[in-house]
Amino acid sequence: MAVDPLIELRDVNKYYGELHVLQDINLTVGKGEVVVVIGPSGSGKSTLCRTINRLETIQSGAIALDGQPLPEEGKALATLRADVGMVFQSFNLFAHKTVLQNVSLAPVKVRGRKKDDATRRSRELLERVGLATQADKYPAQLSGGQQQRVAIARALAMEPKVMLFDEPTSALDPEMINEVLEVMQGLARDGMTMVVVTHEMGFARSAANRVVFMDNGRIVEDRAPEEFFSNPESDRAKDFLSKIL
Ligand code: ADP
Ligand code: MG
Repeated sequence: MAVDPLIELRDVNKYYGELHVLQDINLTVGKGEVVVVIGPSGSGKSTLCRTINRLETIQSGAIALDGQPLPEEGKALATLRADVGMVFQSFNLFAHKTVLQNVSLAPVKVRGRKKDDATRRSRELLERVGLATQADKYPAQLSGGQQQRVAIARALAMEPKVMLFDEPTSALDPEMINEVLEVMQGLARDGMTMVVVTHEMGFARSAANRVVFMDNGRIVEDRAPEEFFSNPESDRAKDFLSKIL
């Protein structure tokens, strides 16, 4: 690959007890790349995301972020983890904080930013996700799509090197899916490095540089979207696509 690697997983194996949930995973994500991860339920997509920022431990293999091996624990891990923004299916906003506070808290606490600077930057991010007018509301006063956009702004506020999205639109009503995907498209256009688990194949086609197909804890295909969708190699991918397209 021509671009610098930002995330590198080498021969990663993870077990939950007897279950071999990640099997010999090799994956490189270059700076500015958008990698969409798809696959059947239970194939290990969420575990892969959680492994990338060491929310999960691995039994063998190596993970590096921007050339640095991911440490097992301690302050170095917290620092590295702050470089990885995560957005989940459930928005996990602080219910008793305003939208603006949700976005500006961690930069002050974790990154040590000055409060004024964090507030100004958070307002810019809220503008970017189309929520400038909602800054003083509480999460419960927003729609699901708006809450998820706050969650994206909150992750961006930490100035991450990479953004991981784990089914960010799966819990949303259909009419709210596009407003979230559009924000993600914008991030991709602006050059953010992204790993996105999603069933939104339109997003994969238009935003992804690569599609990674997982099945039973393995990466079965890792190819350009146009190749993957027009000509999947594995029977598992063909079967999966025939069910969702
Ligand atoms: P996906 O996101 O592709 O649906 P997951 O990564 O959530 O898949 O799960 C992969 C497999 O690991 C599933 O069989 C799931 O039941 C199992 N699993 C996930 N989390 C845990 C856990 N904390 N403990 C035990 N098994 C788990
Ligand atoms: Mg999952």
